[in-house]
Amino acid sequence: MAFGWIDEQDRARREAGLARVLRPRQAASPLLDLASNDYLGLARHPEVVEGAASAARTWGGGATGSRLVTGTTALHAELERELADFCGFEAALVFSSGYAANLAAVTALAPHGSLVVSDAGNHASLIDGCRLARGTTQVVGHADPDAVRKALAAHGGPAVAVSDTVFSVDGDAAPLAGLAEACRAHGAGLIVDDAHGLGVLGDGGRGAVRGAGLAGREDVVATVTLSKSLGAQGGAVLGPARVIAHLVNAARTFIFDTGLAPAAVGAALAALRLLGREPERAARARAVAATLHERLTAAGLDAVRPDAAVVSVRAPSPEGAVRWAADCRAAGLSVGCFRPPSVPDGISRLRLTARGDLSGEQIERAVRVIGDTRP
Ligand code: PMP
Repeated sequence: MAFGWIDEQDRARREAGLARVLRPRQAASPLLDLASNDYLGLARHPEVVEGAASAARTWGGGATGSRLVTGTTALHAELERELADFCGFEAALVFSSGYAANLAAVTALAPHGSLVVSDAGNHASLIDGCRLARGTTQVVGHADPDAVRKALAAHGGPAVAVSDTVFSVDGDAAPLAGLAEACRAHGAGLIVDDAHGLGVLGDGGRGAVRGAGLAGREDVVATVTLSKSLGAQGGAVLGPARVIAHLVNAARTFIFDTGLAPAAVGAALAALRLLGREPERAARARAVAATLHERLTAAGLDAVRPDAAVVSVRAPSPEGAVRWAADCRAAGLSVGCFRPPSVPDGISRLRLTARGDLSGEQIERAVRVIGDTRP
């Protein structure tokens, strides 16, 4: 039977209690949300919603074509200019997702004969970028600039190092200064994914790269998603103008993909402008993360100290993590759950979002539910 092998895999997953299920979210959910990536609570902000609605009214429901044909509106150009300025880069290029932006950056900047040095904890989209790139990938230990330096030193030709700025599983920050130094010493480029840094880290949420003083350097390229702190959808690559111009000509996920929907562009632009006007939003998310970590630890839970707005709680086993998240849900709390095969063996986590708009009462309630349901 065609696809017969699927049944075997499916059975094994069900028996292990690790089958994934889709649960449609309700518009007015009674659940307390610590699972979404809406770090600043902007996804439903009236200005962001109006940004999406008015863009759709003006430009239509879709981009109508790839960016190089009909899919670039004046709004796309505006977003690219404002994103680049906000994050301190010369230029930006918007993609239909952060995933597509990462595939673009890595594949277009790692040609045949080049070396790609990739952190072992990188997001799946960077890993897939490495897999698709023509260059050779060397995976190095997590957050280890010395290992990056050694790998670069052993290679003669063009090279890039690739890292998340904030890692999605444990919310820990990459050693950006050390990575940049290692790259500069060997004439290599640095590609960093600031998906979890934009809107949270750096002055007024201008991102971890700007926060580390690396924005605008000729050897540094950053990627971002518009779908987390900006509450919209889409992604972007930020970097020197000559690198961005190269992506327009070489990045397959730019050339062959339909442009980002105008509504998403309008929402992201509105969120970006809001963040520019209200820079305290970023600090609030960081403060909620610190409080959440402190309260979880005080309750005897094994929480990882957060560097941004991702707060991770260690779970005893994959099955334990799945059950724990389900029990939280039954008690009115929505949390994320990371477990193999999404993450390496031995790493299972409840993953909490320290949304800047959470109240003290909501933080206490979340900690109580997580403590009461612990496996
Ligand atoms: N990079 C990281 C670190 C992420 O966490 C995500 C989202 N899960 C992405 C990239 C992909 O971004 P998007 O959801 O916009 O495709």
